[in-house]
Amino acid sequence: MPQSPLSNPPPSSWLSHPALWVGSVLGQVGLALSGWQLFLAGQPALAALNWLALLALLVGSLQAWSALQQSLRAAQHMQQERDQARAAHEQLQGALRCFPDALALFDAQDRLIIASDRYREMNPTVAPLLQPGVPFEVIIRTAAAAGEILEAVGQEERWVQQRLAEHRAPKQDFLQALSDNCWVRVNECRTPEGGLIGLRTNVTDFVRQQQALQEARSDAQQARRLLVRALDALPVALEIFDEQDQLVIYNRALQRMFSHIDYPASVGRRFADMAAESLRHQVVIEAIGQEEPWLAKRLEERQRLVNRTFLQALSGDRWVQAFETRTPENYIVAVRLDVSDMVKQRQALESAQREGQRNRQLLMDAIEALPEGLAVYDADDKLLLCNTQYRLMYSELASLLQPGRSFEDLVRYAQTQGHYVERSDEGPDWGALRLASHRRPGAALVVPMHNGRWYRVHERQTAERMTVGVHVDVTELIVKEQQLASANQRLATLSVTDGLTGIHNRRSFDEAMAREWMRCQRHQLPLALLLVDIDHFKRYNDHYGHLAGDDCLRRVAQVLIGDVRRSGELVARYGGEEFVILLPGSTEDGAREVAQRCLERMRTENIPHVASLTSSRLTMSIGVASCQPDARGQPHALINAADAALYQAKQNGRARYVLASALKPPTDPSTTSIHRPPEA
Ligand code: GH3
Ligand code: MG
Ligand code: MG
Repeated sequence: MPQSPLSNPPPSSWLSHPALWVGSVLGQVGLALSGWQLFLAGQPALAALNWLALLALLVGSLQAWSALQQSLRAAQHMQQERDQARAAHEQLQGALRCFPDALALFDAQDRLIIASDRYREMNPTVAPLLQPGVPFEVIIRTAAAAGEILEAVGQEERWVQQRLAEHRAPKQDFLQALSDNCWVRVNECRTPEGGLIGLRTNVTDFVRQQQALQEARSDAQQARRLLVRALDALPVALEIFDEQDQLVIYNRALQRMFSHIDYPASVGRRFADMAAESLRHQVVIEAIGQEEPWLAKRLEERQRLVNRTFLQALSGDRWVQAFETRTPENYIVAVRLDVSDMVKQRQALESAQREGQRNRQLLMDAIEALPEGLAVYDADDKLLLCNTQYRLMYSELASLLQPGRSFEDLVRYAQTQGHYVERSDEGPDWGALRLASHRRPGAALVVPMHNGRWYRVHERQTAERMTVGVHVDVTELIVKEQQLASANQRLATLSVTDGLTGIHNRRSFDEAMAREWMRCQRHQLPLALLLVDIDHFKRYNDHYGHLAGDDCLRRVAQVLIGDVRRSGELVARYGGEEFVILLPGSTEDGAREVAQRCLERMRTENIPHVASLTSSRLTMSIGVASCQPDARGQPHALINAADAALYQAKQNGRARYVLASALKPPTDPSTTSIHRPPEA
């Protein structure tokens, strides 16, 4: 290692060494003695040679002594200079210590002249090397090899060459990262003498601050990028204005929503300017035609803004729901959501609702216009709606006729209040039957009410299992129906009744005759017939008058029916003053008994007939015939037989019966049975 010129001893200092001089004196003494001995020994040549050497040594010693004196003086001088230099060095070091930067001074050959203590502290691995005269290259190689220079790690040689090049022709200062996590700023400049002053400033704090600042800036940028991406990913449009109401940030959705504004170029623009631009493009529907007052109001509201939500119609048939809020930093955050679909759906819904209401009103008007009562019950049998007529018809239930009321409630209430006329033929629980028919409507019902009214109820179930009931007040119809039925009944009775006497008429007899003929034929029963004719009735009329005659006919009819009791037996007015008695199942004997009793009852009736040619009382003649009806025979044959027997009774003197069987042969009077009632 080269020595510092300040620390090197003077080159002749060895002359001052005492051993040298002691050795020299001893050598000279030795040479003198050995010469003397050689002389004494007879070796004058050798002794002379010895004394020559002694002389040379003496001369040399003298010269050396002189040189030593000179050297000592030079050494003293040098020591003084060295002391001065050391003092200067220490002064310089002291001065350098006050210098905040590390400093090293190299000579024109790039050897270290001086390095400040701070320089050593900054480069601890090369600190022991930092002695005057050490080449710069040695220093940096050592530092690179020790890994002190971070950027050199792994490429030491390359870095050394580059560093040497920079060192030889320094241009500008640069930063260097050291292994102990320190940063130094290296500033080198050449001196006019070709040396180099190297300044190294510890800028670790500064660099760290710079790094922290950079990181913070990077973080901020990253955060902003994230924020922008997040905002762009939002489905809502967003914009933020600062306290001067200037645009700070926006997202893509906003740009899409207000495509007329160049948002990238609008950051920093005032809201008022942007709003005015929107108005120029007629974007805000409500502002069209009143842009200035609208904008003034909008700005005024914005000044007072804390929180605001509003719906805005935009051009292009768009609707936007806007939320504006002021932050504690006095910023305004505005969020806009495109709710066009929702608004349109709502409008469509409202339109449909209005349409529905209109239709419902139409339906209600139509229902109200119906002369019939109408009620609709839902699938759960709850009342949905009913018209006024329905309420009037069931006025006792008016307070209960509210939507939602179950049909069962209404029926049970009406039942307990006795509003329905319970009909024994419909079972013990009329209400249960009514509920069943309501749930499964079939044929129309006719319901009698306690107030004498009759309601016809037509119920139908819809596809939605609603029950629609039409209630018609059919009281008039029912009354007319009842009247008609009664009239029909009367007509039917009249059609088979003799108007004068009230007994069956000829027509009724004919039907009964045909019917009984068939029945007796079917059951192999006999059939008997009595043909009755009042005797001398013309004369009765003539004598007592026609009205009396009529009365007489009625009395005779009563006489005749008095003995006819059995089922199927029939007394009818055959015509004029003739009657007929049909006796199904009676033999001739039975018929004869009836005839006999009729004659007796006639007698008992005791109706005077002073004009009669055969009795003082009204009498009758009876022809009796009977037969066993069969397929070959005809009913009129039996009538004819009875008629013939009657004729015979007349012929025989009246007031008697004659059996047709007794007429055979008719020409033979002996076979004719004549039966006369006992004379009174
Ligand atoms: P005969 O004993 O032969 O039966 O004599 P007759 O007078 O009863 O019989 P005729 O046939 O000559 O007269 C029947 C009368 O009956 C004639 C008619 O005036 C009377 N006559 C028929 N129908 C009615 C009627 O509805 N009312 C009244 N008062 N008389 C009637
Ligand atoms: Mg007659
Ligand atoms: Mg008669």
